[in-house]
Amino acid sequence: MCGIVAVIGSREAAPLLLDGLRKLEYRGYDSAGIATIESLEKVKKGSLTSRKAKGKLTNLSSLVDEEGSSGHIGIGHTRWATHGKPDEINAHPHMDQEGKVAVVQNGIIENYRLLKEELEAQGIKFASETDTEVIPHLISRELKELKSKGFDSNGLTLLTAVQNISTLLKGSYALAVIWVETPDSLVVASKEAPLVIGLGESEFLCASDTPALAGFARTILPMEDREVALLTPLGIELYNSEGIRQQRTPSLLTGVEHVVEKKHFRHFMLKEIYEQPEMADLWIARHFPKGFAEKAQVALPFDDSFYEPIEQIQIVACGSSRHAGMIGAYLLEQFAGIPTAVFYASEFRYAPSPLTPNTLVIGVTQSGETADTLAALTMEVNRREGQKDTAYQPRLLAITNRVDSSIARKVQHILDIGAGLEVGVAATKTFLAELLAFYGLTIAFASHKKSKTDIEIKNFIHEIQSVPHYLREVVQKHDQISEVLAHQFSGTKDVIYLGRGINYPIALEGALKLKETSYIHAEGYPAGEMKHGPIALLDPHVQVISIANPGIVFEKVLSNSQEAKARDAKLIGIAPESAELEIFDKILPIPEVSELISPLLTVIPMQLLSYHIAANRGLDVDQPRNLAKSVTVE
Ligand code: GLU
Repeated sequence: MCGIVAVIGSREAAPLLLDGLRKLEYRGYDSAGIATIESLEKVKKGSLTSRKAKGKLTNLSSLVDEEGSSGHIGIGHTRWATHGKPDEINAHPHMDQEGKVAVVQNGIIENYRLLKEELEAQGIKFASETDTEVIPHLISRELKELKSKGFDSNGLTLLTAVQNISTLLKGSYALAVIWVETPDSLVVASKEAPLVIGLGESEFLCASDTPALAGFARTILPMEDREVALLTPLGIELYNSEGIRQQRTPSLLTGVEHVVEKKHFRHFMLKEIYEQPEMADLWIARHFPKGFAEKAQVALPFDDSFYEPIEQIQIVACGSSRHAGMIGAYLLEQFAGIPTAVFYASEFRYAPSPLTPNTLVIGVTQSGETADTLAALTMEVNRREGQKDTAYQPRLLAITNRVDSSIARKVQHILDIGAGLEVGVAATKTFLAELLAFYGLTIAFASHKKSKTDIEIKNFIHEIQSVPHYLREVVQKHDQISEVLAHQFSGTKDVIYLGRGINYPIALEGALKLKETSYIHAEGYPAGEMKHGPIALLDPHVQVISIANPGIVFEKVLSNSQEAKARDAKLIGIAPESAELEIFDKILPIPEVSELISPLLTVIPMQLLSYHIAANRGLDVDQPRNLAKSVTVE
């Protein structure tokens, strides 16, 4: 999940690296580091400097201010630790024993233990606990080998060394490598992890994601799987895994938002919660332009041939996106009549359900980079390719907030959720935007499959059109209610969220938000499941939050809530005020809307309560511990 940035050009590298890393900090903030090479013309050699600091990037910036770091070539890293504690020793860049080769890596080297044992047996001493450190040692060993065969100290030799050792590495990686003997050469490589080369005016930059390139590069060259590139001040040489030189035309870098202000909000998370009504307004304007609602239609970028063959749907996703997918599945089954199953992408990739004909597989990932989701889709394409019967050919759709991401490059059909940049690591507005995408898709399928009459679809669209108005009311009201209520959670250790039907995934999402932001143990359950075990957890110290929205399971949820109340649990209800439900110790009121659109509103008190509990505890709401915004490792 780490962020990588590398630069070579005419300007000082350190400020460019720090600036790039700042825009990648959402990918990890356990530690940060840079390495630069200063070219010593007289001796025709370089001098390599590395600066590393534990924790957020500001620690590294202060260190670089104090101790300096010069040179026009450098690599940088912001880490989300997979192997080894998040401390300074394990911070990247990692070096070979002589301190001549420096490497930053995103990903996991799965066979690092074996490689490490082999290198240690050859006398190499490791400085860190990371998997990454095997790479500089392997490159250094390979460089010595190549030089003994007569290779010169030049960029092509470094490139060859990286190409040669890459065959030894199992797992996924994006790498940037510098070598003190070639202060004018930077080598980058990518395998199942994103890397984008940016072509600046007087430099080349390479980064894990395009926001780091904004402001430096107008054109970009996204690297393809298993490519390796040599960057020098004069140009880019790109090679595929067979070592064949690749020629591609760079594309324009567009649509990258890189200036985001907190405005008057204390945290980005709160600001992004407040952005939801307007975002829903814009979504409605885009998807129901004039005349569409009346014709029971939604504007989506697909033609009839996309919908017609589909007989069933499988959704693969992780975290909040999976919860959005679960609500999507409910809608697609109950409203559009299409059998739909939801899978954890990380499970599906190794244990897919048997191949079925005419199946649409939907990957949902706000970042477009979630490694498990990408791998699940790749697996799906691989196992379907070559099937003779066209009913079994791959049919993929991606729902994402990043149309310039890896998933968008992999999948032909994309639904852009258009939520705008989300800075808070815990998803809020992107969750709601993913939900909206599923509402749009459901309407399109219902209309194509004629599972509902035009009148029913029209009514559904009108209900959706009323959502922004309700959202405004709910956000305002619950910001105040939750701020006060959060104080009651100062000593809370366990919270159970209950919901049924279409609001069961909202119970899961509520529990996830609380865990992520407040580090409080929380579980979401389908309310009817409590009596099959979890009810044993209840006592007066456990807080239960029940979503009780009028609809087919309303009475059932109330009965299940009564069962919790009878076990002395403290009970909060997310329910219409009008329902006057005395069983709840406290009601978090939501407008009385139809069950099918209720998740778009019931999620708001969940978000705000989690936010205020975390803020009240003085926690780092926007960058909670151990998390990262874009999960690019398995
Ligand atoms: N495996 C490397 C480490 O632990 C990189 C981790 C990542 O990309 O998230 O340092």
